Amino acid sequence: MIPERTDVLVVGSGAGGAAVAWALATAGVDVVVLEAGHRYRPKSFPASYPWALNHIYAGQGAQYVQSDASIYPMPSGKGVGGSTLINSAICYRAPDGVLEQWRQMGLTELAPELLAPIYEELEGLLGVRPAYPQQARLNNLMVKRGAERLGLDGAFVARNAPGCVGCGVCQLGCPSGGKGSVDRNLIPIAERLGTKVVDDAQVQEILVRNGRAEGVRFARIDPESQAVGSEHRIMARAVVLAAGSVGTPRLLLQQGLSNGSRQVGKNLSIHPAVGTYGFFPDLVNSWDGVPQAYAVYLDRKEGILLQSYNAPPEVFLATQPWSGALGMAQLSRLPHLGMCGAIVSDRPLGQVELGPSGQPRVRYALGGLERKKLLRGLRAIVDILFAAGATEVYPGVGRTWAHDPKVAHALLGDDVPETALSIYASHPMGTCRMGVSKEHSVVGPDGQSHDIPGLYIADASLFPSSLGVNPQMTVMALAAVVGRALARTLGS
Ligand SMILES: Cc1cc2nc3c(=O)[nH]c(=O)nc-3n(C[C@H](O)[C@H](O)[C@H](O)COP(=O)(O)OP(=O)(O)OC[C@H]3O[C@@H](n4cnc5c(N)ncnc54)[C@H](O)[C@@H]3O)c2cc1C
Ligand code: SF4
Repeated sequence: MIPERTDVLVVGSGAGGAAVAWALATAGVDVVVLEAGHRYRPKSFPASYPWALNHIYAGQGAQYVQSDASIYPMPSGKGVGGSTLINSAICYRAPDGVLEQWRQMGLTELAPELLAPIYEELEGLLGVRPAYPQQARLNNLMVKRGAERLGLDGAFVARNAPGCVGCGVCQLGCPSGGKGSVDRNLIPIAERLGTKVVDDAQVQEILVRNGRAEGVRFARIDPESQAVGSEHRIMARAVVLAAGSVGTPRLLLQQGLSNGSRQVGKNLSIHPAVGTYGFFPDLVNSWDGVPQAYAVYLDRKEGILLQSYNAPPEVFLATQPWSGALGMAQLSRLPHLGMCGAIVSDRPLGQVELGPSGQPRVRYALGGLERKKLLRGLRAIVDILFAAGATEVYPGVGRTWAHDPKVAHALLGDDVPETALSIYASHPMGTCRMGVSKEHSVVGPDGQSHDIPGLYIADASLFPSSLGVNPQMTVMALAAVVGRALARTLGS
């Protein structure tokens, strides 16, 4: 039964939508969450890449990024749980330096000492704890060994995966239910407090009357065929957009809403990432174990973070510069390959716009600073792989392998052009940023639109800048700040 009216409507049930619903429900507010994707139980995840693309990846995983650099489609999740359904469960708090910058922008509610108890509460609810060797297994332990031999600043990452068995398919949906995606914790808690979650419900319009948000129009979507079904409206005292860094600006741009600042869709950061691998005489079987369990801070100030990663064989081959017979020859080496990646903090170099058919169009221009950070990351990965015992390393550019670090470093000079890099991006942020100035931001420090009373944002699009670390916990923390502020406004 779909209600006709509620206190707060939340659009999207990912990291932000779940956390804002939890914060509101905890304060006694009546909440309805509308989610475009379907609600899946862990047992229904078949651990299949095609199935995952068709069912729990937004746009079937094909969100194209226009850029001179070669950026793979920018993935995001779809379904109750949003991108937490397909993420690697890595949990970081935002670096204090970043939160200090935000405080200096006037966002005093986001100061490190005020966010710390919120992070702590969320970490408790999500079961966040460090990964450990038995679930990490050989690929992660290889990165650990190399980093330790080089005396680098490394550690097992904290993860929201309290029941993880190390099956290695986090990005296909966790079939064991061991991952603490938000459909397993924050959403059920909110539901126990009265929140109603409607899945297969795609919001198509924000209803605004007399300049105030007062509800939404949405359509039911068939989860298999994606056919658009019946239309509905729900009225509310406030509407919170948590449709993600592409979905939220898309909804606003479609209606030309809340854009007095002309900042909607602008200021996109993506945490550009690169990765590469080395050949080890012993078996690594990188697909076995937690995909990403060990990390090295290469440069905390500049925001260069190295993280082990794995890719299922079918994904690995699709992302390599090899194909045909040569590709198969490379693929046959896969059991012996150890892998590591680097993500870097970036400036707001991209934007989300609407294409001619109303579909989102994402542009991103990799800056020289970011390109050099990525190359620094690749050089450090090369060193780690050799230190860990690799006999050959693919430097991540070109087609040749290097037999010693000097050769690889020579191929990875600062002058390597962006066109030679293969970049991955799964952390879009900042497209409706929070700020005190109506001219430079879309929402105020409480998450409310500067232009439309009753319209709030609570997802990764709020970020005033890039973080330099994986963002899900900070998305949740900011969404909780917005939820608590909204609950106070509603008098709960
Ligand atoms: C492959 C991958 C791996 C990642 N790994 C990590 C990691 O290990 N650690 C980490 O910290 N971060 C990771 N991230 C990033 C992290 O998951 C995201 O930053 C975070 O989930 C963003 O939260 P959000 O609420 O902004 O959006 P999302 O979590 O993406 O949720 C948005 C939701 O809104 C729904 N929606 C969109 N439009 C509409 C509409 N019109 N109507 C109704 N619903 C709508 C979508 O279906 C989706 O469910 C990863 C991301 C990806 C894609
Ligand atoms: S590695 Fe752990 S968290 Fe990831 S899918 Fe397997 S059991 Fe779930």
